[in-house]
Amino acid sequence: MVALMAVTKTRTTTEIQEAWREGIRLFGENRIQEALPKKKEWPEELSAEWHLIGYLQRNKARKALDLFSRIDSLDRAELAFDLQRILEEKGKPVEVLIEVNTSGESSKHGVSPSGIGKLVESILRECPLVVPRGMMTVGPLGGDLRAVGEAFALLRELKDKVSVDFGVQMPDLSMGMSDDYELAIEQGSTCVRLGRALFGPREFREG
Ligand SMILES: *Cc1c(COP(=O)(O)O)cnc(C)c1O
Repeated sequence: MVALMAVTKTRTTTEIQEAWREGIRLFGENRIQEALPKKKEWPEELSAEWHLIGYLQRNKARKALDLFSRIDSLDRAELAFDLQRILEEKGKPVEVLIEVNTSGESSKHGVSPSGIGKLVESILRECPLVVPRGMMTVGPLGGDLRAVGEAFALLRELKDKVSVDFGVQMPDLSMGMSDDYELAIEQGSTCVRLGRALFGPREFREG
């Protein structure tokens, strides 16, 4: 089963509610700033799950935990430590995905494949309220399908290796966007994140 996440950056609350009416219950936002007004306007009776899928600044960690039920873009230990401190106050855990830079592109966020072990070890040892559920990646851009397929295969291998090395359950593999979700599903994606394929082209500058 592959979950479908609607990526809502640049979309209006009206557009997002239309997607909800079509049956979508999982939404991903990139930025705290943009999520704030949308969550405020969102009618409580429309039950839905919201995940953060963009880069999280440490000083926004608290806001992120208020707005999102899961952080799909955890990429460094310092951020995990901040989350742990805030979660201790709140007295509840949060599930996260480890974002991995599988393409090596310097413009991409995410921990490098060689840094994953250390990051996961830090989380498991020092952040009991930060619960890793899997991994997330953004494939390389530019339309080289072979490179994209390799990046997705790499993420699957890394996830399997970490699960075995640390003896943790990591069922989730969030990979695949509008241009490459088929490849991602072939490589074992459990969640594709679709923006343009659902809502059409983005008209605004992306953040
Ligand atoms: C924008 C974005 C998406 C969706 O991109 P589309 O190409 O519009 O499907 C998915 N994941 C992340 C992290 C994004 O920033």
